[in-house]
Amino acid sequence: MEKIKIERNTSPKTKPDPTKLGFGTYFSDHMFVLNYDSEVGWHDPRIVPYGPFSIEPSAMVLHYAQEVFEGLKAYRRADGGVQLFRPQSNIRRMNESCLRMSIPTLDEDLFLEAMKQLVLLDIDWVPSEPDTSLYIRPFVFATEPHVGVHASRQYIFCIITSPVGAYYPEGMNPVKIFVENQDVRAVKGGTGFSKTGGNYAATLRAGEVAERLGYAQVLWLDGIHRKYIEEVGSMNVWFLLDDEVVTPPLGGSILPGITRASCIDILKYWGYTVSERLLSIDELLAASAAGSLKEAWGSGTAAVISPIGDILYGDKKITINSGKIGALTQKLYDFLTGIQWGRIDDPFGWILKLN
Ligand SMILES: *Cc1c(COP(=O)(O)O)cnc(C)c1O
Repeated sequence: MEKIKIERNTSPKTKPDPTKLGFGTYFSDHMFVLNYDSEVGWHDPRIVPYGPFSIEPSAMVLHYAQEVFEGLKAYRRADGGVQLFRPQSNIRRMNESCLRMSIPTLDEDLFLEAMKQLVLLDIDWVPSEPDTSLYIRPFVFATEPHVGVHASRQYIFCIITSPVGAYYPEGMNPVKIFVENQDVRAVKGGTGFSKTGGNYAATLRAGEVAERLGYAQVLWLDGIHRKYIEEVGSMNVWFLLDDEVVTPPLGGSILPGITRASCIDILKYWGYTVSERLLSIDELLAASAAGSLKEAWGSGTAAVISPIGDILYGDKKITINSGKIGALTQKLYDFLTGIQWGRIDDPFGWILKLN
């Protein structure tokens, strides 16, 4: 493995108020960079001061959106140490995204080493207020200066980090979600399972419609029947129907969330029945009418476990658990965040301590 060169930032920034971080606004002092060229492969791993790139206007990512990204967090424990949650899963998923987008994959050991060294160098940027963390954003984009549709022969892989608080301004108050029935996010055979920028660009219009109606997020239906529930903007989605926990199955159009996989393991560990199965919006409305829809929540690295209070579908509106966080949602939140911040023992081996 090539040694990572380090160029320290000689003018570090003033850190933001840790009680007012919001999400994705502040960036730490350093970033990791690695270049790819078809002649030499990935090369020149380095940590440098956070700052702009210089790319040509003809850089292929700007025209054909050949890029992928990831998202994970570094958590500050009560003893002051810092730890990552399942970083190898993010690394593997990023390489899956790369394969889908014809981007050369990354060496897993170098990727992990880069994240460790970057977080350790900017360790003072890992906040310690309750519910705060250092969000880690690895991404790769195509830089070959060429107008013409083919896979780029040059790329930049970069990792930046951002101290964050709650993803939704609502915090743990239930979010309201809008069911989109015109636009679709993804179809089987497409890129829905990849974390690639274009997937999100295509969702912005529905997001704006939802926002105008006072809804925080969009719930996507499948692209063929516009009937089966897929996921929410940046979260996988969950429903408690009587005592069955239901989440849509991964079928190529849904992002395989690491939080989703972790929830499945935790719920099974507790003895719940978890059904990864198709759930139509009509079944959900009927369950709500019959009183069997007890709780709903979303899961994702950024949003953690986020209760869902209202769902709007056309002119039908349902409210779940009187718009309050449900008992199972709360229990899952407490357990998962307990492991992530090191407040409880991790029975699954998910934690990687950095110090
Ligand atoms: C990142 C993401 C998720 C959640 O994945 P995690 O690994 O749990 O963070 C869910 N859906 C979409 C569309 C995403 O981009």
